[in-house]
Amino acid sequence: MEETKKGQNREMTPGRRKRIDRLKKMIVRAVVLMILLPTTGCIILGIKLHRARQYAESMEWQIYFLEGALQDSVDATDRAEALLRINEELRQSAGASGRTAPPADAEEAAGEEAASGTEDTRKVYLTFDDGPSIYTEEILDILAQYNVKATFFVTGKGKEGYGDVYRRIVDEGHTLGMHSYSHEYGNIYASLENFQKDLETLRNFLYNETGVVSHFYRFPGGSSNNVSRTDIREITAYLKAMDIEYFDWNVSAGDATSVYLNSGQIVNRVMNQVPSHRVAMVLLHDAADKHSTVEALPKLIEEIQELEDTEIVPITKETMLIQHVANE
Ligand code: ZN
Repeated sequence: MEETKKGQNREMTPGRRKRIDRLKKMIVRAVVLMILLPTTGCIILGIKLHRARQYAESMEWQIYFLEGALQDSVDATDRAEALLRINEELRQSAGASGRTAPPADAEEAAGEEAASGTEDTRKVYLTFDDGPSIYTEEILDILAQYNVKATFFVTGKGKEGYGDVYRRIVDEGHTLGMHSYSHEYGNIYASLENFQKDLETLRNFLYNETGVVSHFYRFPGGSSNNVSRTDIREITAYLKAMDIEYFDWNVSAGDATSVYLNSGQIVNRVMNQVPSHRVAMVLLHDAADKHSTVEALPKLIEEIQELEDTEIVPITKETMLIQHVANE
């Protein structure tokens, strides 16, 4: 009996073993799967989370830098406005002569009245920075319609297709000024050498396009910008040696700030400032994202022309210098 049972047992063993082995394998697989699936899931999610964090961090940095840059430009504007207020006060306290040793940068504003020629004529200079742009022709059409001459402080980099526009500015009697070739603060203000290179590139570029050698410059960010790593007086000395005058502004349309201004707001801002100057150097922008400046132009010209004894003129060699940081 026993032998038979044992024999039977021996006979059944391979089949059973197979089943047991299969079962074992299934259990092992199931266990492995149960461990692997959540683990891989966790790893994948972890990587994704890490990437998202990195992205968020880089965005944070970008926002941080942008905010810094924005603050810089706001600071520069504030500084310029503060300087002009001081100039204005000095002029009032020093009387019309304004020569009782005000700081160098105050002299020009102090001399506004004396240098404006006939003292009862207010001179308004409409100056457009950053062009040419897709709107320059529209601006030129409006200026032509009102028979008004303005000043364009242009750039050159990436503007290769604008040859006709540069020429039109010149042909229609406007003043062609320079506003750096690249308009890249980090490059042009890194060293005097860089500044010189950039300026010469623009000057040659404009000469090739128009046959005009420009004698006028506007610093990107103004001469009072706090971006420049080069002493601005080194640069102004260089400009002087090149027979180039630079012009800042004493009236700002505010069309370059991050806050969008509609055409009515631009007109109001400018008209709030112009009457307090005998020489009003108005900063406007000619750029693809600034159509409200173009829309403001007709009304702006009309309101300026309505002021008594006021004329709108382009910058010339005789124009009184409006400078935030004056040359020595
Ligand atoms: Zn600019």
